[in-house]
Parts: sequence; structure tokens; C-alpha cells
Amino acid sequence: MVYTSEPVVLPEPAVVAGLDHWRTLPIKQQPTWPSAEEAAAASAEIATMPPLVFAGEVDQLRERLARAAQGRAFLLQGGDCAETFAGATADQIRNRVKTILQMAVVLTYGASMPVIKMGRMAGQFAKPRSSDTETRGGVTLPAYRGDIVNGYDFTPESRNADPARLVRGYHTAASTLNLIRAFTQGGFADLRQVHSWNKGFAQNPANARYEHLAREIDRAIKFMEAAGADFDELKRVEFYASHEGLLMDYERPMTRIDSRTGLPYDTSAHFLWIGERTRELDGAHVDFFSRVRNPIGVKLGPSTTPEAMERLIDKLDPEREPGRLTFITRMGAGKIRDALPPLLEHIKTLDATPLWVTDPMHGNGLTTPTGYKTRRFDDVVDEVRGFFESHRAVGTFPGGIHVELTGDDVTECLGGSEQIDEETLATRYESLCDPRLNHMQSLELAFLVAEELGGTAPTTAAL
Ligand code: PEP
Ligand code: MN
Repeated sequence: MVYTSEPVVLPEPAVVAGLDHWRTLPIKQQPTWPSAEEAAAASAEIATMPPLVFAGEVDQLRERLARAAQGRAFLLQGGDCAETFAGATADQIRNRVKTILQMAVVLTYGASMPVIKMGRMAGQFAKPRSSDTETRGGVTLPAYRGDIVNGYDFTPESRNADPARLVRGYHTAASTLNLIRAFTQGGFADLRQVHSWNKGFAQNPANARYEHLAREIDRAIKFMEAAGADFDELKRVEFYASHEGLLMDYERPMTRIDSRTGLPYDTSAHFLWIGERTRELDGAHVDFFSRVRNPIGVKLGPSTTPEAMERLIDKLDPEREPGRLTFITRMGAGKIRDALPPLLEHIKTLDATPLWVTDPMHGNGLTTPTGYKTRRFDDVVDEVRGFFESHRAVGTFPGGIHVELTGDDVTECLGGSEQIDEETLATRYESLCDPRLNHMQSLELAFLVAEELGGTAPTTAAL
């Protein structure tokens, strides 16, 4: 990546007009730090650390997303609901990257267009919560807000917000991103390795289907190589980092002025999204993210009105710049066919082309009688289908998918061809937050999306 090596300067509030205006606005979902001085000191320390991503990469992603918004590429965004510090191991990072690469291969093949690969990784540490507190057995403690704020253990010490976690969050994001960069630039993600990404995963029908596809890709590559094509370009893969832009004591100090353009970039990730709970138009988050140059996502739940959507566009994408704004809809399987089309119809009357992405996870949560937060794979699939149907009916582009997944064989979502049932959930439920698709469910979903995209991905029956 070519980028100026000049040191970045943390802007004084006066240097970039309005960058700190959010401080004067109502703000939600921030922790109460026991010591404001310690939190300020941690933020000041982060502000001196190198950026995690470079502005040039962020600009490149904006161009890629612009293509997806125009129906010429497709975004695949996936990863944990909440990354943890303990989960930032080589094995877990590699399995997640491999799963995303495999899904991308399936989608690229099915869609015959470029797939933009993006992890909910290297910074997805802060969580919005429906309640500030959690009560267990008559004891009430602060809610777990993600490893960058407090600990998951249900003790007063662990649940206290600890500003030292902000600095640890930065370092954990840095080491995660370092490994991702090594994997995706160092030959591991080479398309000629398409088979090896399946190694280490349990054998299952989705893997068999994937192997079949990988063989076809191998044959195509060998043929093209024999015909003289140079495939060195396949060695490197663009892989982008993203997380919810939530914790302002982390996002603000990571925001730096790009010395090429004099504009602010949030260098904690290439792409940041504003969650369903913090997207009010006059709130702090929308104001802050309206002022950074990164491409920005906004989650839209089923209560979103066309007017509210239009005002978000005015605020976050006043220049109507392709690739700048992504709407990530999370309507729920039962609602998407009613809730999405009016938004899409309204877009057609505006001069805006946001990228439309489906998050089929967050509108489909349920809790089992035994207390597990879960989702039915069938609901996830149904919402994805509703997303494509809605776009087909209105004539807009379904541009991507946003999923909570892991490369491990966890048992957190019900169904899929392994038919995980309520009893099985207990065998390997590891998420500290929302339930994730496991490796096999992720691949199954990728095949389904590939079919929706109109491709010819082989079916199991054809094996
Ligand atoms: C999430 O993405 O984990 C999340 C909390 O989503 P939403 O803002 O859509 O509820
Ligand atoms: Mn989640």
C-alpha cells in the first residue's frame, strides 16, 4: 500500500472543525468509567500509537464499495458478534479468515463478480447492551460491554469498567490485523490454495460441496496457466477490517488527519458501522462518523421509516458519494418483505446510491427455555431470500451480506444440515454475546447466496 510515511498528528479540536462536536450531543451506550482521569489518560495514550489502517487503503475500499452499490461487486462481511482478548489466537483468527475466504470463493464463483472480503475482526470488542445492568440470583452488576470495557465474569471486580482495557484493545486489534495481513499478503490466501483452506475442518456435506467447487477452480486455473496467464496477482487478497463504531474513547483517539488530504480518518478500521441502538440522527455517533472519511455503515431495523432513512443519507452522505454509505438491514425473516421494499422504493426517488447489505442475524434472535440466545438457520436463510426478493421486485441491487460467524465447530445457531437442536446447543456454545454460524452453516449460507446471485454453483445432488 503506498501511503505517506509522515507522522500523523492528532488534531486539536480547532484544527478540524466540528470533529469534537459529538461531545456536546446526547450519547448512548458508553461505559461509566470509575475514574474519568484514567479513561482520559488511556485515550491520550492510544492517540500516540500508530494507526492500524492507512487512509489510502480506506479510500480503496470506498471505491470497491461503490462498485458493489452499482451491482458490480458483492460485499461479504463476517466475524464474531464480540471478539474477545482470549480469542485472539492464531488458530481462531486463521479459521475465521479461512471461512471467509471459502465463502468468498463460493460467492465469486456463483456471482461471477468480485467479492469484497471484510472481517468483523481486529476491533469488534465493544458491545451495545439492552440494559446497563445484569441480575443473576438476586445480585445486580454492570452489564458486560465487551472486552475493551469490562470482563465477562460475573463478579464486581470483573464487571467494573477498566480503562486499561482500551489500550489492551488497541494492541489486540494490532496483533490480529498483523496476522490477517500476513495470511492475506503472504501466499496463504492464494487462490491456488483453494483446497488447503478446507484442511482441519470436520468433513461434512458443505465441505464436500466446497471440494467439488475447488476442483473446478483448480482446473480452470491450470488451464489458464497453461494458456500463458500470469497468476501472481492471485497471491494477495484484499481483506478489510471493520467493527461497530461505538466506544468513543477508542474511536476518537484513533482518528487522525491524513497528511495527504488534511482530512480525518478513523484509523481503527477500514469500515465502521453505527449500530441500531446508536443511530439517532441528532446523536453523538451519527455526528462523529459524518465527519470522518471512512466508508460508514448504518444498521436499519424494521421500524426505519423512509423519511428517517433519507435524513441519515443527508447527514452521512451529503455529497452522494458512491461507496460512502452502506445500509445494513436487519429486519427479521418475518418482517423483511414488508419493511424493506418501501425503503428501496424511496431510494429510487432520491439521487443516492447507498450499498444495501443484509444482516440476517440480528432480527432473528430467540432465547430457548434453557436460556440459550440462539437463532434458527432457517430464519437466517429466509431473511436472505427476502432480501433478494425485495431487491428483485423493486429493481435495486442486493450488494452484500453481513453475518456473525466463526470458523470453529460451535453449536450456537439451531438447524443447518447438522440439524443442531436445543439439546445440542449446550455441547459447544462459546459466544459471550450473540450466537454465530459455525463453519459448516457459514459455507451452506454462502452456497445459498451464490444461488440467489444467479450463479451456477454446483448442488450437492450434482456431485
Ligand atoms: C451487532 O452487530 O452485533 C449488533 C449489536 O447489531 P445491531 O446494532 O444491528 O443490533
Ligand atoms: Mn451481535
